[in-house]
Formats: sequence, C-alpha cells, structure tokens
Amino acid sequence: MQVNPRPGASDNVYEMLWDCEFCGTKKLLGKTHRFCPNCGAQQDPKARYFPSDEEKVAVKDHVYVGVDKMCPACQTPNAALAQFCTNCGSPLDKAAAATLAPERQAAEGQSLGTESLKDRQQAALTKPKPKAKGFPLALVLVVIALLAGVGFCLYTAFSVETTTVSVAGFRWERQVSLEALQPVPGSSSCDLVPLDAYGINRRYEVVGYNSVPDGQRCERVQIDQGDGTFREENRCETTYRSEPVYGYVCSYLVNRWMPTRNLESGGDKSTPVTWPAENQSVLRCDLLGCERVGGRSERYFLQFRDPQNELVECPVDRALWDETSIERGFTAEFGTVFRDLRCSSLEPISG
Ligand SMILES: [Zn+2]
Ligand SMILES: [Zn+2]
Repeated sequence: MQVNPRPGASDNVYEMLWDCEFCGTKKLLGKTHRFCPNCGAQQDPKARYFPSDEEKVAVKDHVYVGVDKMCPACQTPNAALAQFCTNCGSPLDKAAAATLAPERQAAEGQSLGTESLKDRQQAALTKPKPKAKGFPLALVLVVIALLAGVGFCLYTAFSVETTTVSVAGFRWERQVSLEALQPVPGSSSCDLVPLDAYGINRRYEVVGYNSVPDGQRCERVQIDQGDGTFREENRCETTYRSEPVYGYVCSYLVNRWMPTRNLESGGDKSTPVTWPAENQSVLRCDLLGCERVGGRSERYFLQFRDPQNELVECPVDRALWDETSIERGFTAEFGTVFRDLRCSSLEPISG
C-alpha cells in the first residue's frame, strides 16, 4: 500500500509527549513509547500534549500513515494501517480514531512552553456545550407570532364588505410649483466640471486610497497528527497598507433652476376651479433670482360619509367629478377590520 506523507511531513515532525498515569513517569515520547518504559502501561492518546520548544524531539524520515485507531475491545491505540489490535487481536475496521489535541499557534519569534494537559481538559469542560437539538421554544413562539401578524395583515388588507354610499361633498386642489435660478455649489474631478461653471477652485488633494501589499504576517502552528507525532507549519498571510491617491478636485458654482415655493388654490363645487394666481411675484427672466413655473398639479375629490359617519374622500378624475351631483349613489368596499373606504372599488350606481 502506497502512503503519501503530507507535504513537509518528513521535515518538521516531532514527538508528542505523554505522562504515565500509573507510575507517574513524565514526558514519555508519543511515537517511541507506545508503552511506559517504567511500568509497561499502555499510552493513552488523550493524554498526549505538546512539548516546549527546548524539549522538542524530531522524528527523522517520519512516514505518516494516519491517526491512530483505538481498539474497541481493549482501548489500545494502534497504527492507522493495522487491521487487528496488536494487544488483543480484535478487528479494527470499526475502530474510532484517537482523540487529537487542538492545534496551537505562536506568533513569529515567540517561543512555546510545555502544554498543560490539565488546562486543556479544563478549557474543554468549561466550553459551553452545543444546545440540544430541536427548535428552541422562544424561536417557535416568535415564528407563531410572526405568522399570526402576517395573517392579521392579510385579513386587514383583503377582507372587505360592499355597501352603498352617497356623495356628501366635493373638493378640488391645484398647485403651481415655482423654481428660481440659483447659484448651486458643486465639486468633482476637474475633468468633469460642467461647461457653465464659474468661480472654479482647483485643489490637489487625496481622492482615494490604494491597498498596497506590505509584507507577510506569519505564525507557527503545531498540529497533532494523532499517531504520537505533531508537525509544525508556518501559516502566512499578506498584509496591506493603505496608500493615499492624489488628484485635482475642482469646486465651483453653477446656476440651476431649483424648487423654491408652491402656490396653492382649492375649494368645493361652489368655487370656480382656477389655477392659483401667479401674480407679479413671479419674475419671468433668465437672471439669478428669477422665478419660473416648474410644474402644475390638480386633484379632485368626492367626499362620502363612512359607516361611522366620518367624512372620507377619494380622488377621482376630472370628468367624473364634473358630472357627479350631490347625493349621487356609489357602491364601495369597506375593510371589515378598520371600516376604511377602499377608493379603488368606487363605482357609480347607474340610472
Ligand atoms: Zn508507567
Ligand atoms: Zn485490543
């Protein structure tokens, strides 16, 4: 069977350490001492820990075959290639892999001390356990509340009843919006200055930033290989610095028509529908401060009494507004929840 060691595996591979829990011998070698040389007890992979930098024992020409397999019958760790336990002969095809120590890192130039197995086990104990499977009750309640809310909104929107209403009044409104020619400040790259700009001020300044590769930040990582050895790797990432980019920026003024004020008129059917008087206040010219009409809008409303006898109104087109007389009947839909008039459903009763 051909086994490919991991890249660099033959170089930076060292022995994990373990302590014999039966006779107290410390710092036994994870690969060399599968059994305690003092009392013969077998190694427990869970007890493996990383040595300090000074105590690292290199493993020359290490061929990595995989994480040890734990014999399901006698808990002896066996090499990954073994098919039967070297201690009791049990088949290892259903054997679990040996527990791995979590990897640890050191910044460049920083040295690593002997790992404390006690601290690691303590940390594993205090780590919060993953929540039990199944939906948390709070989440279920939130989802139910959301669904109920959506249901209520849909009911409010679509549940209507049709009734007859009669016109109780009329209203119209017209609006003329005025604009004035005003100096407006602007700023852009100097290539993009509008042709009619004046008072141009040109500056050389920071217009952006470039991210420039600046070097590498590396850390040394120790990785438990699960066979009594660990390997060391350098993990590097490129660092960047931000470099300002300079360019010419122009600030300037341009004369533009800007909205200033609105003129309004309005009334019911007793007042003639007219545009608001633009009168003398509107200066028709093309100089700074001159005004012109920017836009016009007009709206016409029919007014009804809703079931609570409140006055409500709906916008209609001018023709319908003109031809409709007071007390004319309409069918209309009202929402069942808020008793609100749905203007889009309004239909004049013919005849
Ligand atoms: Zn021992
Ligand atoms: Zn066994």
